Amino acid sequence: MTALAPYAATEENSRGRTHAEDPPTDRTEYQRDRDRIIHSASFRRLVYKTQVFVNHEGDHYRTRLTHSLEVAQVARSMARSLRVNEDLAEAISLAHDLGHTPFGHAGQDALDRCMQAFGGFEHNLQSLRVVDRLEQRYAAFRGLNLTFEAREGILKHCSVDNARRLGELGQHVMDRRQPGVEAQLANLADEIAYNTHDVDDGLRSGLIRFEDLREVPFVAETLSRVDERYPGMGARQRNFEVGRAMIGTLVSDLIATSGERLRRLSPASIDAVRSHDEPLIGFSPTCAAAQRELKAFLRERLYFHPRVRGMSDHAEEIVTSLFSVFREDFGQMPAEHARRAREAAKTAGASGSARVVADYIAGMTDRFAFQTHEELCGCNLQPKAGECLP
Ligand code: MG
Repeated sequence: MTALAPYAATEENSRGRTHAEDPPTDRTEYQRDRDRIIHSASFRRLVYKTQVFVNHEGDHYRTRLTHSLEVAQVARSMARSLRVNEDLAEAISLAHDLGHTPFGHAGQDALDRCMQAFGGFEHNLQSLRVVDRLEQRYAAFRGLNLTFEAREGILKHCSVDNARRLGELGQHVMDRRQPGVEAQLANLADEIAYNTHDVDDGLRSGLIRFEDLREVPFVAETLSRVDERYPGMGARQRNFEVGRAMIGTLVSDLIATSGERLRRLSPASIDAVRSHDEPLIGFSPTCAAAQRELKAFLRERLYFHPRVRGMSDHAEEIVTSLFSVFREDFGQMPAEHARRAREAAKTAGASGSARVVADYIAGMTDRFAFQTHEELCGCNLQPKAGECLP
């Protein structure tokens, strides 16, 4: 195995775990982080959470779970190539969306609006809350007790108000310190994965077409290249080959650009990476522009497509109604959440109990949120299989 670069995260330079534990015997500390994430209930629930398309719309679309696996695959490849810690990049990638609400961004925006008077709702911060507090399965500590480096990568950023409550990790955010290279890779692997797989899912759904995508020069060039190489291929192969080629281009560009920057600046340690004024991992200006154009296209044509928006409106109604039902009567939540809300109301007032309600709603899968909403509000907004598709 190739030796890690001096700026890679290693067990030796790790800032460790909040609760000291015996070192693992047959795996590394970062593998242990990854394993704890995979065995968490929040990770299993990702399979029933929306990426763009709600589960009922078809079995072949990405969910938060398959998205997270694709992010981990891309991040690991890039980490290996840049000689940094693959296990850490994988752990961060698998955990990065654990705090996501049901119904994708629509659900998150709705919950953030509900929480405006109580400190808001930020999904990165919620992912950290999941691994630090909400997963309760270990007898010796609360949360998953992950390493500092994994927690740093999961948080990415948060508001200054929230950072104040996060101790050493919050101080990093307030000092505007960068996370390590592995976290920076996981962050951009997320972008590479969603931009490319949303094109695939968008094409599969029929909501966008290749003819439309030709407006984005990066896709148009990729399409011409693929068509030239495989003239007359089937539509399914064409979708896949274009996605594959786009990932290949973006990954190679990121490795070349970042590799060159790392060689030039040669940071001596992970702390040197953290103190740099800007991220060391990135795309060339051409690929960064391509990513922005593709993102803008997807936003306008797919995420804001009337069919997707229709579901987003339902999502907003469900999250907002559930929030007010639970806030008015904690007893409408399962006993353990009701007890926590009552305790939080005593110790931290309305903001404390609202946070417990937000934690409960954020943890729901799409289908559980549909069912709970139907039971408590008497209105079934759950589409039938395939109903949202043209
Ligand atoms: Mg993501």
